[in-house]
Amino acid sequence: MRGRNLRGELDAFLAEVEGGLIAFRRDLHMNPELAFAEYRTTQHIADRLSAIGLAPSVLPRGTGLICEVGSGDGPTVALRADIDALPVSDEKDVPYSSTVPGVCHACGHDVHTTILLGAGLFLARQAEAGLLPGRVRLLFQPAEELPGGALEVMAAGGLSGVDRIFGLHCDPRVDVGKVGLKTGPITSACDRVTVRVSGPGGHTARPHLTADLVFALAKILTELPAALSRRIDPRSSLSLVWGRVEAGSAANAIPDDGVAEGTVRCLDEEAWHAAPDMIKALLESVAGAYGVEAQMDYVRGVPPVINEEISVQMLIEAAEGVLGEGASVPTQQSLGGEDFGWYLESVPGAFARLGTRTPGEAHSGDIHQGTFDVDETCIATGVRFMVATALTALWEGQRPATSEPAVLMNLDN
Ligand SMILES: [Zn+2]
Ligand SMILES: [Zn+2]
Repeated sequence: MRGRNLRGELDAFLAEVEGGLIAFRRDLHMNPELAFAEYRTTQHIADRLSAIGLAPSVLPRGTGLICEVGSGDGPTVALRADIDALPVSDEKDVPYSSTVPGVCHACGHDVHTTILLGAGLFLARQAEAGLLPGRVRLLFQPAEELPGGALEVMAAGGLSGVDRIFGLHCDPRVDVGKVGLKTGPITSACDRVTVRVSGPGGHTARPHLTADLVFALAKILTELPAALSRRIDPRSSLSLVWGRVEAGSAANAIPDDGVAEGTVRCLDEEAWHAAPDMIKALLESVAGAYGVEAQMDYVRGVPPVINEEISVQMLIEAAEGVLGEGASVPTQQSLGGEDFGWYLESVPGAFARLGTRTPGEAHSGDIHQGTFDVDETCIATGVRFMVATALTALWEGQRPATSEPAVLMNLDN
């Protein structure tokens, strides 16, 4: 196994399929589908996998699919891509702009999906040639943005028998051809909080006879984040940021209810566990001071993605092996949430950032913006990287625990 010319094999494979993969990505990009509505996307992936003799299995809700490659007794490695788009309007002027109003692949999940498809096609050829020392499970996960798709995959048995799991995400701050890696937490917890306030409404001439609900809501909006930052260890970087607020309908009428919604992000698990009770207590004290009733709805989102050290080593070996020396660069923990964290609570693994920026380009749109796009050569990079990662993890997984560390990929011969 060792000493195979993996780099050369990938070159030949990509020379044949890269154009087709880019076309596949553009088709997904033009036809984005929201969380748990990815029927067309699912069908297109399933068609491509079935066409080469694989047997993809669609998840019970009808979107997302799982596909096993290889049948040996060796270890099982899972590779995950998310397939859903966002409720964001496409603002790009490109031939493959979204054709669905208000929906686009602003998070690059079309790219992740295409990379996993490409890696699956290559690995299936390896399996056919008897060169796959174990199994690779392709997880095409729906609804990452909701979130919740990861739990759907797990409920369908997607992790059963899996020894290690890997995934990646587009990163427009990293040059194409490179991957950003980090041991330990790489994303953050992200929860959703909704606050509803109510009180007797009335005329704005007489706030003292009612509860001045809009004023109280405004106090809640500013006091809660401020007080929280004084109650929780600042190193946890817990932040409460409001994204929507609504109250009232006329300039001279105090409304009897109002609502605010926001997210709670946190780098650290301990603070994450303490947050809901603390926010509730602060809310009650501020609301009480202004005589309004307040209710809180706190929805747990995703835990932080915490990369396992050995898995990160495998990612580094894979990157340096097939992308070249210096291809892996350090990255920082972000305050973004990613539901890959759910998988890592069950099995070891790691999540990588895939560079998508054209080198030298000063401004490349950020994810979740209608202007976001990638340098499409990142697809070939991603395929090389995911294939090498899966093979590295399979080879490592087979090695007896007592043996000496070996060079896993002698790529030059
Ligand atoms: Zn996203
Ligand atoms: Zn994403």
